Amino acid sequence: MDLDGGAGNNKRVFNRLGTDTSKNQKVCFHWRAGKCTRFPCSFLHSEPSHPSGSAAASSTANGSGAPKRFADDSGFSGSAQRRGPNFKNNHNNSWGRMGANNKVVRKTEKVCNYWVQGNCTFGDKCRFLHSWSLGEGFSMLNHLDGHQKLLSGIVLPAGMDKLFTGSKDETLRAWDANSGQCTGVINLGGEVGCMISEGLWLFVGIPNAVKAWNTQTNQEFSLSGPAGQVYAMIVGNSLLFAGTQEGILAWKFNAVTNSFEPAASLKGHTLPVVSLMVGANRLYSGSMDHSIKVWSLETLQCLQTLTDHTNVVMSLLCWDQFLLSCSLDQTIKVWVATENGNLEVTYTHNEEHGLLNLRGMHDLESKPVLLCACNDNYVRLYDLPSFSKRGKIFAKQEIRAIEVGPSGLFFTGDGTGFKVWKWAEPVATT
Ligand SMILES: [Zn+2]
Ligand SMILES: [Zn+2]
Repeated sequence: MDLDGGAGNNKRVFNRLGTDTSKNQKVCFHWRAGKCTRFPCSFLHSEPSHPSGSAAASSTANGSGAPKRFADDSGFSGSAQRRGPNFKNNHNNSWGRMGANNKVVRKTEKVCNYWVQGNCTFGDKCRFLHSWSLGEGFSMLNHLDGHQKLLSGIVLPAGMDKLFTGSKDETLRAWDANSGQCTGVINLGGEVGCMISEGLWLFVGIPNAVKAWNTQTNQEFSLSGPAGQVYAMIVGNSLLFAGTQEGILAWKFNAVTNSFEPAASLKGHTLPVVSLMVGANRLYSGSMDHSIKVWSLETLQCLQTLTDHTNVVMSLLCWDQFLLSCSLDQTIKVWVATENGNLEVTYTHNEEHGLLNLRGMHDLESKPVLLCACNDNYVRLYDLPSFSKRGKIFAKQEIRAIEVGPSGLFFTGDGTGFKVWKWAEPVATT
């Protein structure tokens, strides 16, 4: 085994990805909220008290100097021992590998249709589920409803005690996060295609426009440019990007004129762009043309086109050095950068249904969990990187929106409303 060679190779890979190994000792606020999209992030992506001694020692021993990653936090026994000098390859191989703590759900996994309609006469003897979820470690706190049509977006801006939902009923609703009361309704004049929040800003995509609110000053802006529906938005390198029917548009906020100015138009996809993600100084776009394009955030030039999916790429997620993509082709693909900087698939997870949405979060034991909305009205929860099952969440209608909050909270759209869920506090084992 060539210890130095392996470590040296790893170093080059991580350097090219721009990894900053000098970590700030503060815990990343966005990571705590389950949605840090910075890579590299200069803040800690672990709780300081988390016992990570063996993983840290292993990382130092192989000389890669790489930051803490997936396996270090996943709690898999033996993962550090399994890791050889070629850290990167061993690490990649842990995708889809079931750990010793794999909890497979064994029950009739179908929700009772009669119970959903409120008239199952079998009660406790019914062999189908009388519950909105399956699996341990999380529970439903609340079910809020109020829209007239399907909910298409949920956003909990960081540091706010207000939740915003958007719907195909052309309205935006504000909810008090403490009382669960709807505190306001705004008529947008168009079906909500997508919603995001960034800092003080709330952005809502509707046909032919993006609405922007400064949640502190209540100032409202209407950004023109899109033709047709806005399917996805993301902020990166001080630009707001929107995936539209005719490619990707970008705006920049001008503090002097107090306005959003058109900054760029990224052409290349042959069909509408429906998913966007930012990470590792790259913008990733997924399209109805089945491809993912990788763009430089600095030059806005397309660097690579990924064509492994065979249907619409519905959602993208950056998690540490990996890009995860999901598609109506019923797969989740995990991408990693090779020596030459290009992305290639390192793992493919197969579902029996098309995938609509991916979100990542940590449970209250700091274990990474992937939330996947499928087009059979279920959200499936998986441990990462093993993809072992954590549970399932059922909805009456298609689940278009998932949002991750602080303290183990998460939200899933369900028809005209949404459900509030929470991970259980860790149980002391001694
Ligand atoms: Zn972070
Ligand atoms: Zn029943």
